[in-house]
Amino acid sequence: MADEISKAQSARPGGETIFGKIIRKEIPAKIIYEDEECVAFHDISPQAPTHFLVVPKKPIAQLSDADPSDKALLGHLIIVGRKCATDLGLSRGYRLVLNEGPDGGQSVYHIHLHVLGGRQMGWPPG
Ligand code: AMP
Repeated sequence: MADEISKAQSARPGGETIFGKIIRKEIPAKIIYEDEECVAFHDISPQAPTHFLVVPKKPIAQLSDADPSDKALLGHLIIVGRKCATDLGLSRGYRLVLNEGPDGGQSVYHIHLHVLGGRQMGWPPG
């Protein structure tokens, strides 16, 4: 089983995650953008020439835990992802990914948007 799949199958929601530590600056990350609601930083294990994550400061574990009142926050993640993609020069396009739960491939239970670009993406995703 591929490493990322086994990680996703064994990861469990609940509690503190590495992203909380990054948000609080307790561990380093290559931060691209930050505002009151979210932080964007480069993925430590990039799957494309450009691969970064947009993470809300509110610790929502996963999409299925998001409340309808989180609608604006979730939209904000997409707008920030677009801004960062533009700033990083992804003029030919990019892909947004939000992994939900074990079958979705989620390994960190603090909701986040992946932004991948700098190469041609395939379809369907693996
Ligand atoms: P997911 O599998 O959708 O939960 O995505 C989690 C992502 O977080 C993976 O792409 C990891 O490579 C990335 N990741 C894990 N730890 C770190 C870290 N310390 N800094 C940056 N990215 C990380």
